[in-house]
Amino acid sequence: MNQIVAGHEAALRSRTADWPTADQERLQAAIRFAVVKHGAQIRRSGEPYVTHPLAVAAVVTELGADADTVIAAVLHDTVEDTDASLAEIAGAFGPSVATLVDGATKVAAVRGDDPDALEAARLRKLFVALASDPRVVVIKIADRLHNLRTIDALAPHKQARIGRETLALHGPLAHRMGLAAIKTELEDRAFAVAHPDEYEATRKVLADIPELEQALDSARTELVAHLAANGIDGVVQARIKHAWSVHRKARAGYDVESLHDLLGLRIIVATLAECYAALGSVHALWEPVPGRIKDYIAKPKFNSYRSIHTTVHVRGRLFEVQIRTQEMHREAELGSAAHHAYKTHDDPREPQWLRRLLDWQDAAEDGEYVEAVTEELGAEEIWVLTPTGDVLTLPVGSGVIDYAYAIHSEVGHRCSGAKVNGKLVPLSSRLRSGDRVEILTGRTTGPSLDWLAYTATARARDRVRQWHGRVRRARTRAAGESALAALLSKHRTTPEAAAPLLLATAGLSSWEQLADQVGSGHVELLRLERALRGRTAAAPAPADTPTPHGTVRAPDAGQVVAPGLSGIEVSLAGCCRPAPPAALIGVSSRARGVVAHRASCANALASIEDSPGKAVRLLWVAPGVRVSTVHLVCDNTPGAIARVTLALLDLRADIETSSSSIAEDGRGLQHYEIVHTGSRSELRKALRAIPGVRSVSVD
Ligand code: MN
Repeated sequence: MNQIVAGHEAALRSRTADWPTADQERLQAAIRFAVVKHGAQIRRSGEPYVTHPLAVAAVVTELGADADTVIAAVLHDTVEDTDASLAEIAGAFGPSVATLVDGATKVAAVRGDDPDALEAARLRKLFVALASDPRVVVIKIADRLHNLRTIDALAPHKQARIGRETLALHGPLAHRMGLAAIKTELEDRAFAVAHPDEYEATRKVLADIPELEQALDSARTELVAHLAANGIDGVVQARIKHAWSVHRKARAGYDVESLHDLLGLRIIVATLAECYAALGSVHALWEPVPGRIKDYIAKPKFNSYRSIHTTVHVRGRLFEVQIRTQEMHREAELGSAAHHAYKTHDDPREPQWLRRLLDWQDAAEDGEYVEAVTEELGAEEIWVLTPTGDVLTLPVGSGVIDYAYAIHSEVGHRCSGAKVNGKLVPLSSRLRSGDRVEILTGRTTGPSLDWLAYTATARARDRVRQWHGRVRRARTRAAGESALAALLSKHRTTPEAAAPLLLATAGLSSWEQLADQVGSGHVELLRLERALRGRTAAAPAPADTPTPHGTVRAPDAGQVVAPGLSGIEVSLAGCCRPAPPAALIGVSSRARGVVAHRASCANALASIEDSPGKAVRLLWVAPGVRVSTVHLVCDNTPGAIARVTLALLDLRADIETSSSSIAEDGRGLQHYEIVHTGSRSELRKALRAIPGVRSVSVD
């Protein structure tokens, strides 16, 4: 056998020397199988391909994985890249190994064209595999680490892509699974290829801080002596924070030198009691920073991480000290997820972030799924307590609204206040780990849109938007129904009698549709009113002498106006000689202003077809009638649109177009184009008098 392969094999065997004989024999058989199957395949570096799965298996052994996982790692590329079949593997190495190889294979083997869909499909496979057996992901992460260790052979742009993907996915995933031992190397290698310039800059920043290494060294020596003097038997490790996390904090606006955890010391002791003794001892030696003591032993982190953290002043520098037992250290480095499979979705060991990702995959579009996954993995979590003492995890930055929606949608919708640690707090409050949160319900008006500014979770934002979408639809219909009711009573008729005519006019098939379309302004009340009157709008005597902008008088007493446009010239086309009540279309030209044609005129249609931007909406109005644009800001309450519509009808104003929207601050915005005879100041006054209307502009 090739000498390089023999070297990899020897390394793997030395790491598994303490295995039971039966497992060692299975591993030996797996190595032979992989060597034969991969045969003469070579890697881009020129090495035999089989060196890769052997090296991946060696990483997996470092993570303390069981024999099946290590054997599956040896075989992880055989089904994908050679003629080996899963049945063959199941026969030779057992069903458990075959399942793991299958999981690792499927994740890599999905193909597709649309990058979003492909990415989403890969992620779905990965999370389904993770949910059924997290050992698959341990293999995938080890696979990625070895690929990064040997990435030099790839072209720079491929290196960068793999690096970025690793930073977005594998690093956070390793963190989520508690694989601290592998995460740091994975992220720093990925950082170096994904953003080479920033990587170098970060390393330079660290190298430029004077005597960093020396400060670390002397603090370590001092601590070792101090612990010994206090009779505490522990191992002390020292570290400088890794480049990728320094870069992330620097990018988030932190001054690198002031980072609380730039310099770290770790004390590993034998017993839980010694952890607390060591904490007291550290605080006796160095002054602790208030509020920086975190007891993750009493309250483990979301990824089962346990340790006590404290930050202390050491001769002008801040040091983060971590204290843990050997068992906690092993778990923190290797992850606890690697050692067991989650049995069912109800298993309380299944992390909530995984549950959320699996929920997402049912609902989300491909693009959204990728986004949700990256967001979910990128976010650090906090844990908070329910009034009954249950622990709930939320992304960092979550507030009481996020908490309320995490409990239940209805609790979110009805949330009227919140107590954190027994004190009433504003709804905009952010939560911190350890907070005990109680939601007060009783709100009857539903969620407010300004809550969107205080939420950190996609779930809460979604629910608030959904509620508003539903309510807006209900309000639109209510507005349409009341406008129709007003119209019918004005014409002394009933829905039953008027429905056939009105539905035919609007081209709709049900009264509900008509109400929706009227409420949203898509069907203009003016059209319905004209249909009811059986004639075009009659013009009452003008109350004053209006001077509408952009008008021209037609030969037979109609007047053409261009709503919303002021100061433009309108002339009548010679080709089709438009006259009331024929529908009009305006064509703008630089030389002649706007020319009014019949809407059916072939000349007009030809010039608009060439450049649609030239089309101008024109209307016939009776002499003395004006067209105004109305903008309203009003409280967003049910019936607001109906009240305005009714007021405009009372003023004998015909609504040409209408639209409404909700502003960022939650206020309702309404826009109308109306044809009316009264003065604009009268109009303004009447609109201002409507309850709930906050401001009116008419022009
Ligand atoms: Mn591989």
